[in-house]
Amino acid sequence: MPAVASPETATDQTTEPLRVLRRVFGYDSFRGTQQEIIDHVVAGGDALVLMPTGGGKSLCYQVPALVRPGVGIVVSPLIALMQDQVDALGALGVRAGFLNSTQSYPQRRDTEDAYLNGELDLLYLAPERLRLDSTLELLARGEVAVFAIDEAHCVAQWGHDFRPDYLALSVLHERWPDVPRIALTATATPATRQEIATRLQLTEARHFVSDFDRPNIQYRIAPKSDARRQLLQLLQTEHLGESGIVYRLSRAEVERTAEFLTANGVTALPYHAGLDKAVRAKHQSRFLREDGLVMVATIAFGMGIDKPDVRFVAHLDLPKSIEGYYQETGRAGRDGLPSTAWMAYGLQDVVQQRKLIDNSEGDEAHRRTQSRHLDSMLALCETVKCRRSQLLDYFGQPDSSPCGNCDTCLNPPESWDGTVAAQKLLSTVVRLQRERNQKFGAGQIIDILRGKKTSKVEQFRHDELSVFGVGADISDNEWRGVIRQLLAQSLLAVEGDYGTLVLTDTSSEVLRREEPRQVWLRTEPSKKPAAKAKARDSKRVPQDMPPEVEPVFQKLRAWRMEVAREEGKAPFIIFHDSTLRQIATVAPSTLDELATISGVGEGKLNRYGQGVLDALAAPEE
Ligand code: ADP
Ligand code: ZN
Repeated sequence: MPAVASPETATDQTTEPLRVLRRVFGYDSFRGTQQEIIDHVVAGGDALVLMPTGGGKSLCYQVPALVRPGVGIVVSPLIALMQDQVDALGALGVRAGFLNSTQSYPQRRDTEDAYLNGELDLLYLAPERLRLDSTLELLARGEVAVFAIDEAHCVAQWGHDFRPDYLALSVLHERWPDVPRIALTATATPATRQEIATRLQLTEARHFVSDFDRPNIQYRIAPKSDARRQLLQLLQTEHLGESGIVYRLSRAEVERTAEFLTANGVTALPYHAGLDKAVRAKHQSRFLREDGLVMVATIAFGMGIDKPDVRFVAHLDLPKSIEGYYQETGRAGRDGLPSTAWMAYGLQDVVQQRKLIDNSEGDEAHRRTQSRHLDSMLALCETVKCRRSQLLDYFGQPDSSPCGNCDTCLNPPESWDGTVAAQKLLSTVVRLQRERNQKFGAGQIIDILRGKKTSKVEQFRHDELSVFGVGADISDNEWRGVIRQLLAQSLLAVEGDYGTLVLTDTSSEVLRREEPRQVWLRTEPSKKPAAKAKARDSKRVPQDMPPEVEPVFQKLRAWRMEVAREEGKAPFIIFHDSTLRQIATVAPSTLDELATISGVGEGKLNRYGQGVLDALAAPEE
């Protein structure tokens, strides 16, 4: 589709962007703030766009690139995905290319020629390319319609995903003052947003902040006992045969978890930076192309993965920040269908994360930032209120009402006055520290409180302490919960490689005789069976397709799989599940009828329309 976006006889007031949306993408209308953003950019204005994952950011630069004369330049850090993005656009009939380090010289030259000859609508570049004078020269010799800076939070040091190459992007403004720039991100707190605007010189830009809620995702955070078994239980009871992502902190855990799942009959692949590049590419490609595959990964995986039917995202270790967590969980359910974000979290996670921060490189300010990120994350884990409200509040949307689709809404936890328990625990730490000049980790302190005569207790004569046995009425597990929550509330701290527990500046407030500070703790939920039925009922997003057309949908999926194999593409590039569901429901018998379905644009109609009709007409097996 040439940049001279067809001046079809404009008989009505339909604007050019809307015509492009309908003709090229096959969608009826813009969503949310898309229209406003696109009008603003088409008119030449700069924009900073904050939209949750799955909100529809891509159209905000793709449509202006097609409407304005010249080529849309998309800056993206996701080299490994550029081919897929270009393929997806190709399937729509949009002429797209990319330039990055994975290409051979002739491939690069062909793309450069296409750019200079005005044969491209969109050109994807890695940020490091723009540091090269040769790239800037090249761009200057052609015509740029718009600069889109994707994953713009990468420019912010305060955020969680800083990439130094992004800092160089401020030159765009100086060199092309008349070309509009649109920066987009799915993760930005008010602080990060400010930093993006400043660093990219987008202070004059209009800010478009969308609703960050992802109502189809059910948020759940469970106390960790045996994380892998808990995960398996979740998959077997709620997500059998569905695609999902499991996040782990370390490469070793990634490998072990993938092996564990495979041994238990779940098709799972590992993905982390320690794997060979070719292996990583292969696993990513399989995840995109096959149905029902589970990817076990470090956070090295997932940015820009726009697989629409990821049904669950599971965290088996505590993420470092809410920004990262929300971005990762946001990869579930881009198609708007019900999905799960599940996390298992325990005392050891807090100890481990604190240790990582203490040992991290960088200055004191950096450590403080990381610490604040962790505190917000812990507050989310320990809240007795709606998880979603807390997440939205974090992203600058305060005061939302309880969502009814998170674990705390579905199964409200109780809180109890833990002041006395906290005093017992803290005074044990005080005794060890002050009387004995000793520091111990959680295990030993719990043994002392519970009055257990272990060999280690006897060795250190801890049974002679006045606090020995004063906490026998509380179980080991509950004590771990108390410690975890005191850590989360910064009434206790961990130190050193052995995770020893030490007092903080505020511990004394709990210990003072007169009016001690009250400590409210969350009740450890007893091990309830997975709330499957309940979770299903409460899912707010209805299944749109009547159950009796399920066989038709399956027939269309089989057809799509075959085409995907022939063309070597991911099935969702051909049509999304949501589009196939609609086709199955409407059962069109002509190309004109098929064209009315959302997700069927001109390019796809020409290419696949007849195939769809034939598949529909074929007798059922
Ligand atoms: P983001 O980049 O914000 O994560 P995408 O641009 O990938 O989101 O869009 C998410 C999904 O929504 C995609 O499948 C896209 O095709 C679809 N979508 C976006 N805008 C519209 C629209 N106006 N009408 C229908 N579907 C849309
Ligand atoms: Zn809720």
